[in-house]
Amino acid sequence: MFSPQQLRQSFPVFQHFPNLVYLDNASTTQKPQVVIEAEREYYEQHNANVHRGIYRLAAEATALYEGSRERCARFLNAPQAKQVIFTSGTTDGVNLVAQCFAFPRLEPGDQVLISAMEHHSNLIPWQQVCLAKKAELKVIPFNQQGELDLQALQELLNPKVKILALTHISNTLGTINPIAEIIALAHAQGVPVLVDAAQSISSHQMDVQALDVDFLVFSGHKIFGPTGTGILYGKEKWLKEMPPYRFGGEMIRDVTFAKTTFAPIPHKFEAGTPNIAGVATLATALDFVESLGQNNIAAHLQTLLAAGMEKLSSIPGVQFYGEAAQKSGIISFTIDGIHPHDLATILGQQDICIRAGHHCTQPIMDFYEIPGTVRASFSVYNTLEDVTKLGEGVNNVLKVMS
Ligand code: PLP
Repeated sequence: MFSPQQLRQSFPVFQHFPNLVYLDNASTTQKPQVVIEAEREYYEQHNANVHRGIYRLAAEATALYEGSRERCARFLNAPQAKQVIFTSGTTDGVNLVAQCFAFPRLEPGDQVLISAMEHHSNLIPWQQVCLAKKAELKVIPFNQQGELDLQALQELLNPKVKILALTHISNTLGTINPIAEIIALAHAQGVPVLVDAAQSISSHQMDVQALDVDFLVFSGHKIFGPTGTGILYGKEKWLKEMPPYRFGGEMIRDVTFAKTTFAPIPHKFEAGTPNIAGVATLATALDFVESLGQNNIAAHLQTLLAAGMEKLSSIPGVQFYGEAAQKSGIISFTIDGIHPHDLATILGQQDICIRAGHHCTQPIMDFYEIPGTVRASFSVYNTLEDVTKLGEGVNNVLKVMS
């Protein structure tokens, strides 16, 4: 098990801001020194465009880029590296699948199934594709605790459903959905599944073969890597069938004015100069996570979750949103009589960083009939002292505002 206190020393942000209580990790994580160094080293020592040049630097840049693909494939236990497509993040990956997998398949009256706890990024792309194809967007409900209604899910699965897109962990409620069970249920009805692993990838080992998942997406920046990076994993049979996403350089086999033939996967989906530095650095972020161990990270998040829930529940007027039995290190709450933005603003002035608002999940706010919540989300460098400071900070706000 790692020591969060010691780990803080590997994150330069805490040297610059020693009193920082960073509890907005569901939005993005801070970056360890090794990741920052990897990006710097790339630009200082290996920078060139990929796949084109034959000189040494170009070969190095290509090796780093394609090496990162191999690294990502190992991280996910993907059968082949070519099943890993580099994207700019989770949003980009979902859009790619919505446009290139769902769009060509959907007929009027067909359905796409999502859950009521999706981030807007795993909602709007499906909604828009359904609108364009006169298909229906169907939604699996959740209960007051924030747990998916698996009975309703089974009733919603039918041959008209062309894809089920589901988050593994809700970025607002913290609910950990039983994705292995859900994928099996969907497959029994012949429905392919996309898993949004944006919130789970750092604390849950994703074995795409064991899960038999059709598509899996995540963002590099939520797993200690650079912004503007992400992964789409897909089953080979689907990726091969899908048309390209964007058109341009890098993704072709042969071009004339009359006709273009496209490169095989993965390059078919990677038009233009990619985020080479980011992709090269993402491999270092994955090494970092594996060095800590995803099981250890999950255990640490549970410790902080338990401490946070205990601390906050002793504060008068606190309401929690998301109390699922299986829950990750994300606490959404409100305090009677205090607007979430006021709470977050005053805490921010004390260097306690939490997020206020709808967290890109407006339907969750509609379900609870609230405009927003404040959300504290934990990561590897958070300590029990951070939790204490959060509790004290909220109590101070209550004193100021009452
Ligand atoms: N899905 C979930 C569950 C998220 O938490 C987020 C970001 O908060 C996203 C999707 C979108 O990720 P990105 O903005 O990196 O594309």
